[in-house]
Amino acid sequence: MERKTPVIPEADLRRQEEIADYLKSWWQSRGITPVAYVETYGCQQNEADSERIRGILERCGYGLTDGPEGADLVVINTCAIREHAAQRVFGNVGALVHTKRRHPGQKIFVCGCMMGQPEISARMKNSYTHVDGIFSPHYLWQLPEHLYKVLIRHRKAFAVEPSDGAIAEGLPVVRMNDLKAWVSIMYGGNNFCTYCIVPYVRGRERSRLPEDVIAECRDLIARGYKEITLLGQNVNSYGKDLGLGVDFADLMAEIAELPGEFVLRFMTSHPRDASHKLFDVMASHEKIAKQFHLPFQSGSDRILKAMNRHYDREKYLELVNYGRSLMPEIVYTSDVIVGFPGETEEDFEDTVSLIEEVRYDALFTFIYSPRPGTPAAKMPDPTTKEEKSRRFDRLLQVQNRISEEKHRAYVGKTLRVLVDGKDGDRLTARTDGGRLVRFEGDDSLIGQFLNVTITDATTWSLVGEMKYR
Ligand code: SAM
Repeated sequence: MERKTPVIPEADLRRQEEIADYLKSWWQSRGITPVAYVETYGCQQNEADSERIRGILERCGYGLTDGPEGADLVVINTCAIREHAAQRVFGNVGALVHTKRRHPGQKIFVCGCMMGQPEISARMKNSYTHVDGIFSPHYLWQLPEHLYKVLIRHRKAFAVEPSDGAIAEGLPVVRMNDLKAWVSIMYGGNNFCTYCIVPYVRGRERSRLPEDVIAECRDLIARGYKEITLLGQNVNSYGKDLGLGVDFADLMAEIAELPGEFVLRFMTSHPRDASHKLFDVMASHEKIAKQFHLPFQSGSDRILKAMNRHYDREKYLELVNYGRSLMPEIVYTSDVIVGFPGETEEDFEDTVSLIEEVRYDALFTFIYSPRPGTPAAKMPDPTTKEEKSRRFDRLLQVQNRISEEKHRAYVGKTLRVLVDGKDGDRLTARTDGGRLVRFEGDDSLIGQFLNVTITDATTWSLVGEMKYR
């Protein structure tokens, strides 16, 4: 079967590199080391995109700074998932008028998922005239060209035309953490949940070739990274577009076989495509974390259907239970939406009972936010804001109790953790299941896998004591 996934031709990538090198020498010839500030909204995919943006900017000669004040370039990488995040972006981009006034040479770029929505990018272009460049996620790889247009030709740069998107391999990356790395294995999504804007702004599913993903992981391990998280909107459908007969479970298994001491994670999974095979692979590879983020969104079959999720409560619970039968210690986390159009009290109670049944370690709870252009935004939604807030608070209460109970059950257990930093005078670490542990120890332990005995617990985190290596 022929590969359907579009890729950016080598020659086009080379051209961007040449422009980047030109810009670097242009800055050098002016005796300036410019600095850039990149601000990221939203999910891990956006974080990973920002790491690529920083990588490209470094190649263009930029250093990095941690705020917009005095920066030669500000890049705002936006999120379109909820109305609230979008409003914050407009507010914060608006405020940049003042920083630009104080630093007139400053250039401002806005990119990310919001810029994949034509009416939003048009509003940004027409009403925020201090913005110099706008590009959607499909045109990130052309950042040197966008900068060239603005800096050298003194024009504005707009790259927001609809596109299927194509994979750009080998973009430079500046990672924000020396221990933990994001690795995008695919881009876009095919699922069209009725509430979700993502497939409209990030395009259809495109998978990277397994050999490219594996080479990136091998390189990260060789450079001392201890945690790799494979990223995709729906990692479980990885490879379907490649026609190579390699699925996500195969890819995980190959990476988990790489030599070196590291832990392998992944997100996000769609229950529709999650397979028993994936659980089997997780159970049989020590390096794969026993943690599964499996968004259920609602416990009501009626609402799941209206959301176009393509699974029901029974299938979801079957997956959860299969995972637990192989790995009793598996940690489940999930996303849930409260107040989807037409959600009744009974539907909501189904959601509560699902949470009680699965007993997640942690839950990301969202109040439904209508996204223009999605089918759900046109559905009748008689439930009041107050009622939705009440349901939201109730879910938090239920989940907080469960999280605390689950965390208390860790007390007395000895768990292997990766020490990843400091919080005040204590070290912080993550268990295999992704739970946060704080404990006393020397800074030299950061970056090591250790055994800690859990001595105390709260709703959000654990307290431990170092045991032995
Ligand atoms: N990149 C992520 C992924 O791979 O799943 C998607 C990010 S999104 C922040 C994660 C969660 O946001 C979804 O699982 C869903 O619960 C929630 N979400 C998506 N669209 C939403 C909407 N219109 N209103 C409220 N919550 C929404």
